[in-house]
Amino acid sequence: MDDVSRNAAPSSSVVSSRTLTGTVLSGQANYYWVKLDTVSLEGSHPSKGNGICSDVLLCTRRSRLKKVRQTVRVGDRVRIEEPDWVDGRGAIADVMPRTTELDRPPIANANQILLLFALAEPDLEPIQLSRFLVKAESTGMSVCVGLNKRDLVSPDLQQAWCDRIETWGYSPITFSIAKQTDVEVIYARLQDRITVVSGPSGVGKSSLINALIPAVDLRVGQVSGKLGRGRHTTRHVELFDLPMGGLLADTPGFNQPDIAMTPTQLAACFPEIQHRLTRYACQFSNCLHRDEPNCVVRGDWERYEHYLNFLDDAIAYQDQLKHRGEEESTHKVKMGDDGEQRLEPKLESKRYRKPSRRSQRQNLQHLCGDLDDLMEDSEN
Ligand code: GDP
Ligand code: ZN
Repeated sequence: MDDVSRNAAPSSSVVSSRTLTGTVLSGQANYYWVKLDTVSLEGSHPSKGNGICSDVLLCTRRSRLKKVRQTVRVGDRVRIEEPDWVDGRGAIADVMPRTTELDRPPIANANQILLLFALAEPDLEPIQLSRFLVKAESTGMSVCVGLNKRDLVSPDLQQAWCDRIETWGYSPITFSIAKQTDVEVIYARLQDRITVVSGPSGVGKSSLINALIPAVDLRVGQVSGKLGRGRHTTRHVELFDLPMGGLLADTPGFNQPDIAMTPTQLAACFPEIQHRLTRYACQFSNCLHRDEPNCVVRGDWERYEHYLNFLDDAIAYQDQLKHRGEEESTHKVKMGDDGEQRLEPKLESKRYRKPSRRSQRQNLQHLCGDLDDLMEDSEN
């Protein structure tokens, strides 16, 4: 950070950095691009007209934050200290409490998920849309269903899809990004929010970002290995600053989001099930809504089949959790340098004390065995 303080602009141009706040747009290693808030720009940094500054600073994380294991994520609201307007540098001094937190992709403070699907090319597969919907619902964020490529299907077919998805509890919007028809609706939905775009490949996610922010120039039409600024070569996440206000994150395409949730959580991800359970109750509180007597969920609704299809995964996930619970009694949770928690085996200290009572020969054998165990422990 010494560089930054040495090059700091004259104090006349740096009004109280206490008010300098912004949002992390991207980060790699210990460097973060932070977009400054307009409010703080007004009083705190030289006018943009002089050609030496922008509203984005390249910042490091204060070592104090590292010590308290405060991670910095894309989407985080942060306070910046020691801005250097000449070199466009600064230091992140504080991270404000997050309103939401997504782990995959790692994004803080997102408020909605835009599920982008195409009405054709590729065909809209209801079970695939359902899988994405469940995954999106599991984040607790609001979910917007966008159906692209309406130019490829008849108005009747568009309407039929909308009616069908409405019975699932959603209000989809249809448009064509390539033809720029009806895109205003989707643009209005993105305004002033942090949105995560998700959906299978080929539906138009890159086209949407390119249409919104032409300078980004993501490669459109590449099924895999999109190298727009190298983003997709790693699990690197980036927020795009939208011209109408708001930020957009594009998740690297994944076709089959996993159902990493318990049966209860799965049921909470179906608006149809929630609707039924707010009016009536099943006989058993832990009803899986499969073949239990007096279940109010089982029935003649379109996505019930989808629910049953995902239920097997959810049951398997719950079994895994139980197994992990058993493991946790023999393992300890350790915090890694990146602030993420890991399970590590607990060392059984008695194994290393006991050999003193045994013969020298036995001692040696035990010592070798214990060393092997230790080596294994440290490798796991
Ligand atoms: P992504 O994989 O979700 O990022 O999808 P892309 O943005 O790469 O788009 C995949 C293909 O669909 C490209 O060939 C686009 O030109 C095309 N495409 C995107 N939007 C539309 C649309 O509204 N109508 C039609 N007909 N094609 C589109
Ligand atoms: Zn039930």
